[in-house]
Amino acid sequence: EKIAKDKDPPFAQMVEYYYHSAAQLMEPMMIKELEKYPYMKKEQRERRVSAMLQLIGSTTNLLEVTFPIIKSDGRYELITGYRAHHTRHRLPLKGGIRFAMDVDADEIRALAYLMAFKTACVNVPFGGSKGGIRIDPKKYTAHELQTITRRYTMELLRRNMIGPGIDVPAPDVNTSEREMSWLVDQYIKTFGYNDVNALAITTGKPVAIGGINGRTAATGRGLFKAAECFIMDQDWMDLLGWKTGWKDKTVIVQGFGNVGSYASVFVVEAGAKLIGVQEIDVSLVNDNGIDPKDLMDYYAKNKKSIKGYTKATEKSGSLLGEKCDILMPCATQKVLTAENANSVQAKMILEGANGPSTPAADEILRKKNVLIIPDMYCNAGGVTVSYFEYLKNINHVSYGKMNVKREKSIINEIFNSINECNDKFAPNKKLELIRDCTKEADIVDAGLQTVMETAAEGIKYVANEYALCNDLRTAAFIYSISKIFLALEVTGISQ
Ligand code: GLU
Repeated sequence: EKIAKDKDPPFAQMVEYYYHSAAQLMEPMMIKELEKYPYMKKEQRERRVSAMLQLIGSTTNLLEVTFPIIKSDGRYELITGYRAHHTRHRLPLKGGIRFAMDVDADEIRALAYLMAFKTACVNVPFGGSKGGIRIDPKKYTAHELQTITRRYTMELLRRNMIGPGIDVPAPDVNTSEREMSWLVDQYIKTFGYNDVNALAITTGKPVAIGGINGRTAATGRGLFKAAECFIMDQDWMDLLGWKTGWKDKTVIVQGFGNVGSYASVFVVEAGAKLIGVQEIDVSLVNDNGIDPKDLMDYYAKNKKSIKGYTKATEKSGSLLGEKCDILMPCATQKVLTAENANSVQAKMILEGANGPSTPAADEILRKKNVLIIPDMYCNAGGVTVSYFEYLKNINHVSYGKMNVKREKSIINEIFNSINECNDKFAPNKKLELIRDCTKEADIVDAGLQTVMETAAEGIKYVANEYALCNDLRTAAFIYSISKIFLALEVTGISQ
């Protein structure tokens, strides 16, 4: 109640608020579930459920670590990093590592909290965790970032905070396969000689070192698939007075990083029109549509900025209140607040970021009948494909036919250079490697499709049972909590 009155509470309290709102609704059902134990008295059942709910909502480990690095110019700097483990009902735990200036204990704890429910929501058998380092990565050279990543990895390893069976990191805000390569290499060089599953120390790795095809685009692709489960369902579209399908739906995206850019590509491919892109330094608008692939190319070449893109008009300030059908907050937490939620004109919100809406905003938007596809489901494509990558690593397999196109081009290059030295040696026919066969990326896509559809079915079921069709966040929480509850229920909580 106290949190509900505080309009936009700190991030961890905000997540706690969402959790407890759902937990309250479920408590009677959980107590009833324990009636299957005839020896348990009513008070015992109540006590047990209350303990379980407290446990499900609690952080198990929270590490804050500070270490020095020597910068390229010889100066020393102290760096602070975090790693939080939420309920350890399932191991390993799973969650990204972010590099950002707002990283602190509260943020990392909240994000680990969300990861626990996210993995449960999409039936990925992991617990939840998160890590972060408080730096602005733009202010460091690649070499310095490597030093920081390796040292942070060591700090976590020394304390048994990460490991293929303990807690498995992944990319998050401002980190990518580059940072994961450093992390895995640090692990392999330190402890990996004794660990046959060393590659599974992290996911989101480059394909050349045990990554999986399709992981980079996975969160954006998952967002699209999540939205599709509602946009193609007439019953749900009736609530908005919309026809099914993407055609001509106007979309604004906030954040054009890994999540927002790929999400834009997939929705535009399906027929929607991207009319606005909001980034940290500038916003772009174009009522005739922005080509996300073209903008991605520009962004990559322009040092990760959309500034100066000439095929749209630059605008300063927020686009969250601009007219559009679908809003995709894909940047960071707490961007939709008590202050701006009233101005939102979109009828559907796809939460690509973790925790983009505060409880106050959530309530305002629900009263306006906005359909919110909540973060724990909407952005779960990333961790889902991380799971596929993890399976690939611990099973020591690769899926489908190898992507030989890349290998072929490398092999051809080698042949060509040999050819130049010695004509006799290089066969003209080279390698005929490419055959029609399912590719790993297609298998990943199909797997992700099944996962997103299954979770949508579960969330829709809860929404109908609990009359929560205008509150899919609470429905998703209930769906996830019930799974964690069942896991804890069979293992017992005090062992
Ligand atoms: N950082 C991503 C997330 O917030 C992915 C986590 C993972 O793959 O472990 O969901």
